Amino acid sequence: MSSDGKGIKDLVEEVMNEGLCTGCGACITGCPYVVSHEGRIVVLDKCTGVEGNGDCYRHCPRTLTDFEALSRKILGMSFAETEIGHYENVWMVRSTVPGVAERSQDGGCVTTLLSLALEEGLVDVVSCSKMDEDRSPHGYLARTREELLSCAGSSYEASYSLEAYRSLEKDSQEKIAVVGLGCQTEALSKIKNQPPKNNPDPQNIKLTIGLFCGWALLPKTFHPFLKDICDVSNVCKFDIPHTPHYSFDALMDRNGKIHSVPLDEIKPYINPACGYCWDMTAELSDISIGSAGSSYPGWNTIVARTPAGVELLKLAEQKKLLAIHDLPEERLNHLKTAALNRKKKALKNIVEKTGSKTDLLYIDGLKPEYTEKLIES
Ligand SMILES: Cc1cc2nc3c(=O)[nH]c(=O)nc-3n(C[C@H](O)[C@H](O)[C@H](O)COP(=O)(O)OP(=O)(O)OC[C@H]3O[C@@H](n4cnc5c(N)ncnc54)[C@H](O)[C@@H]3O)c2cc1C
Ligand code: SF4
Ligand code: SF4
Repeated sequence: MSSDGKGIKDLVEEVMNEGLCTGCGACITGCPYVVSHEGRIVVLDKCTGVEGNGDCYRHCPRTLTDFEALSRKILGMSFAETEIGHYENVWMVRSTVPGVAERSQDGGCVTTLLSLALEEGLVDVVSCSKMDEDRSPHGYLARTREELLSCAGSSYEASYSLEAYRSLEKDSQEKIAVVGLGCQTEALSKIKNQPPKNNPDPQNIKLTIGLFCGWALLPKTFHPFLKDICDVSNVCKFDIPHTPHYSFDALMDRNGKIHSVPLDEIKPYINPACGYCWDMTAELSDISIGSAGSSYPGWNTIVARTPAGVELLKLAEQKKLLAIHDLPEERLNHLKTAALNRKKKALKNIVEKTGSKTDLLYIDGLKPEYTEKLIES
């Protein structure tokens, strides 16, 4: 992929038609030619008159991405050639705020930390994802604790949630937090590295919380399946319980009734683009949060990466909003192994697609010795 003058037409050809689109929403820039509709990106017209690359093209996480440059920009250091990227510390954490963990996906740490950031005035608005009555996820701007709580819980469908950040007025002076998956934090890092033309100054993005991610489901095919197996309007939580369950569960009305299907039944709906994703732990974030590693239901694993992330966690601890424990070394090693295997698998799939060990589709800027080692091992 080369540079200069590329826009939505090139994005369609190089990313969407090539099965690389992660559904992150970064290309819904506010430009009138690209909109989202019922879980799909709709290109109304293919603009050709972009001066330099259009924001849709240059901020897409699946166009050429210089990870070394992004690491320097976001983390202030060279790209860490490790399993889960650069970090200051990794903990096992659960929210102690009454009612939060119970309404959240795992330990409620995402909701608790973002609420704290809002309440302390560290940020004014959170760009996140919210499920509608049909349980389809959409980008959403939360400005209060209650609004954040209404977004708690995971939809395992790809959400164009970066559309929410893009919807803020260009001259907005609000301080922004963004929560998203690895592909979304990659897009956000590209936005920070190459400021957008029509969206708020990325210097106003004060906090990025990344979510661990194994894969996301394609809304177009998965949502009809979901509607066949349960009454979606009554679902209060989707879950993929820790092993050995190996199922996808829809919990109804928190009344104990669960629709459970073997994980193998939903695998056909996984976005094939996730097979090329090498970032399980959202390495370009201030704080990354998941449950992998903790292996206790109701707890999060938290990776604190930047000074801003560490400070927010310290503040939450001081205010007794979180119960924080060291992650046992054996669990940390387990997480690292899973993340490393993800990198190797993604690179193997990429090399199979390109037929070359040097054309890594979107991964760029890294030492060839490093990527070669991952490919060979
Ligand atoms: C598609 C997907 C796949 C995941 N895969 C893994 C995995 O393999 N291993 C693992 O350990 N963790 C995974 N997670 C993360 C996990 O499900 C929890 O989000 C995480 O542990 C935080 O828990 P919490 O209780 O702190 O979150 P909560 O406090 O409940 O907050 C959840 C936040 O996630 C956001 N959100 C919900 N759905 C989406 C979505 N589709 N896209 C973007 N943002 C969303 C909401 O805006 C909300 O702010 C995945 C999450 C998603 C969305
Ligand atoms: S990966 Fe994101 S930015 Fe790229 S085409 Fe897909 S939705 Fe748009
Ligand atoms: S696996 Fe990667 S590409 Fe797929 S949704 Fe998760 S972070 Fe995005």
